[in-house]
Amino acid sequence: MSRFKHKYLDLRRLVGELVLAILLVVLVFLLTARFEVSEWLMEWAKRHEEYELDDLLLSVLVVGPVYLLVFAYRRHREIGKLVEQANTDVLTGIFNRRRGMELLAREVRRSHRYHRHLSVILCDIDHFKQINDQFGHPVGDRVLQSFARLASARVRDLDLIARTGGEEFMVIATETSGAGAVELAERLRSAVETTSFGVERAVTASFGVSQLRPGESYAALMQRADERLYWAKRGGRNRVSGPGATAAKP
Ligand code: GH3
Ligand code: MG
Ligand code: MG
Repeated sequence: MSRFKHKYLDLRRLVGELVLAILLVVLVFLLTARFEVSEWLMEWAKRHEEYELDDLLLSVLVVGPVYLLVFAYRRHREIGKLVEQANTDVLTGIFNRRRGMELLAREVRRSHRYHRHLSVILCDIDHFKQINDQFGHPVGDRVLQSFARLASARVRDLDLIARTGGEEFMVIATETSGAGAVELAERLRSAVETTSFGVERAVTASFGVSQLRPGESYAALMQRADERLYWAKRGGRNRVSGPGATAAKP
């Protein structure tokens, strides 16, 4: 998973807070200018030199902004961490289903607007239940983690990958035609088949690919990929089914 893919953080709230702070500063400045608060303060300070208000004001002016800066920086990091947690699948570290769907909806809007290709690959590990039953759930978890690493390493940096279910993953292939996505899915399928996942049996996966059509919703795009994934399973598993792919439709 590249750092780039983790950079989809929602910073709108932070920008909102910054705008609010600037508005507050402007408001305080206007009020001060209108009611001559600063002159009144100065006069009061002169009349009460024993309080050394000059020093106090100076301290406030120095410490205040520094404190605000530190506070803003910490809030920025906290929000970033929370957003990242909400978007990430705990087991594999890639995007979770919720974030995957959000990103897909956004990519679909972008593709319609700029008339760009967009394809989706749905991928499901074959007979995963047997892997769990044979080797135990913790081993199954490790297979899922290795699977996510393998797939992340093989998609392009601008492609997006999410875990959409227990042993189901989605690749959003941006700027990619159906034929290109079938090629990518075939590369992934072959890589999975030839990789040892640390279990004494072959691990394979089936793939369904669909390309966005004009005016189509993200839900319809997903549904077509899901139907093709089903055909790939029905066709014997360990295969890719997509526009122009070889898997037989039942
Ligand atoms: P198919 O080839 O038709 O996809 O068969 P399958 O066995 O892969 O599919 P099925 O839906 O029957 O089983 C999926 C299994 O995935 C069942 C569930 O216990 C397991 N699973 C789901 N989430 C996790 C997880 O987080 N960790 C582990 N170890 N197993 C999981
Ligand atoms: Mg499965
Ligand atoms: Mg499944």
